[in-house]
Amino acid sequence: MRELIILGSTGSIGTQALEVARNLNIRVTGLAAGSNAELLEKQAREFKPLSVALRDQKQAEKLKIALKDTDIKVFSGKEGVNAVACGRGDIVLCAIVGIAGLESTLAAIEAGKDIALANKETLVTGGDTVKKKIAQKGVRLLPVDSEHSAIFQSLQGAPSGSLNKIILTASGGPFFGMTRERLKSVTVNDALKHPNWSMGKKITIDSATLMNKGLEVIEAVHLFDVRPDDIEVVVHRQSILHSAVELSDGAVIGQLGTPDMKIPIQYALTYPERGVKFESLSLTEIGTLTFEKPDTETFKCLPLCIEAIKKGGLFPAAANGANEEAVSLFLEGKIRFTDIADLVNAGMNSAPHKTDFDIEDIYNADALARQTVRNTLKG
Ligand code: NAD
Ligand code: MG
Repeated sequence: MRELIILGSTGSIGTQALEVARNLNIRVTGLAAGSNAELLEKQAREFKPLSVALRDQKQAEKLKIALKDTDIKVFSGKEGVNAVACGRGDIVLCAIVGIAGLESTLAAIEAGKDIALANKETLVTGGDTVKKKIAQKGVRLLPVDSEHSAIFQSLQGAPSGSLNKIILTASGGPFFGMTRERLKSVTVNDALKHPNWSMGKKITIDSATLMNKGLEVIEAVHLFDVRPDDIEVVVHRQSILHSAVELSDGAVIGQLGTPDMKIPIQYALTYPERGVKFESLSLTEIGTLTFEKPDTETFKCLPLCIEAIKKGGLFPAAANGANEEAVSLFLEGKIRFTDIADLVNAGMNSAPHKTDFDIEDIYNADALARQTVRNTLKG
């Protein structure tokens, strides 16, 4: 069994990945997170990695003292997280949230690690750069996002060039069927209640706005080398069909299962083998699976992301940066739910038109989009 490093180990994906590691007896060699020293200490004591890191300097100091009686190296700051990403280990699970995860993912690829990617913002913002580096280094990029894992699983055995279309399923989130008028008065608590999945706050809000599905369209374009028009987003309220592909002869192949992120996490870690069995799916108990078109008039973030990836260049990075800023403001109670899409639109359109760009340009586009969101609010 290979050695595993987890970035974002204290989050929703990170803690579920540790459950998978515990089940499969995978050796965990590195753990990194943002600021939760207490949980990281607990994880470090159980899994005995060689090194750990916290992005927050003060919390990292606390952790260093707490782990004084062990041989575990404790790093701090961005550099510390990158050091863990590049430490001993074969595969790095990237589960930091937001563009904050891009740098350490690039560092891990540079160090020759295979990547199990949960952090979709990495591909949304750094898509071409990340893919180029993956190819240069000859490492693997394995999807963890449930839809992309489903597409990846459905493509096993499909001849190259036979992918016609991707059917990307969406739960529709907690506000499915609501009018824009009604959405103006939804609260943070309403938005944090996802019908089928329990996830970190940022992705839960993204699921409610359908921004998450928009980010996933961009992620799929990069992962599977398809055009945005080759992806059909379908609302499927039950979250049982995790996504599907249409092949060149019209056959549709999909992956179904109970909504449990441990299944796609495990597959990324055991690929091409299958891991241990989770809960069985009873189709007769579920009875009905429904499929319908998304309401792109009410949930504007989805078409905005599609526009961003069609325009290409720095537009996806700008849309993502604007969204990260807008979601923080919404969670702080400073804007309404319906403001998020308007701010994503404003931020996205702040992107400089560039076809030739590097990683600095991506960070600059992200910063400019965030600034645009804050200026739009003031104005
Ligand atoms: P979360 O908020 O629960 O966890 C985020 C983790 O990242 C935490 O450990 C946090 O400490 C760490 N972190 C945050 N900022 C950091 C920084 N600057 N440096 C180092 N560590 C930092 O989020 P989550 O729900 O686990 O999602 C993580 C990623 O996985 C997101 O990109 C999300 O879109 C993606 N994803 C999540 C799910 C899910 O079911 N939760 C499903 C698919 C994809
Ligand atoms: Mg998903």
